Amino acid sequence: MKFKISTKGFNDIIDITDRVSEILEKSGVKDGICLISCPGSTCGITTLEYESGLIEDLKKILERIAPMSEDYEHCKKWGDCNGFSHVRSALLKPFLAVPIENGKLVLGTWQQIAFLDFDNRPREREIIVKVIKSSSD
Ligand code: ZN
Repeated sequence: MKFKISTKGFNDIIDITDRVSEILEKSGVKDGICLISCPGSTCGITTLEYESGLIEDLKKILERIAPMSEDYEHCKKWGDCNGFSHVRSALLKPFLAVPIENGKLVLGTWQQIAFLDFDNRPREREIIVKVIKSSSD
């Protein structure tokens, strides 16, 4: 199944836990793996405690790891100047697998699924969710 989200780009971080949980519920799968993926080379999917302090911390650290101001070869070659977006995506990865037990995502109390848009412009993104039933279920 799929759903769409609109982002502001520039490290926009969006909690998608409820959207993914809804899809899992509809699937009826009780035990297995939930794969969440976004086809794109300038985005990421991870887990974190979704609270404003940590969101700012993550943005700050990402800016240190792959700064926007860096001189990227990608910009010289293509002119779209989002080299920092691609590097962040390569490091964080645009997909995530979460185990399913008793029909629920196995996540910690303070662990949410976050979608990150690193691009240098607002984007429409399609998130793909694959619910895979365990053979022992
Ligand atoms: Zn690019």
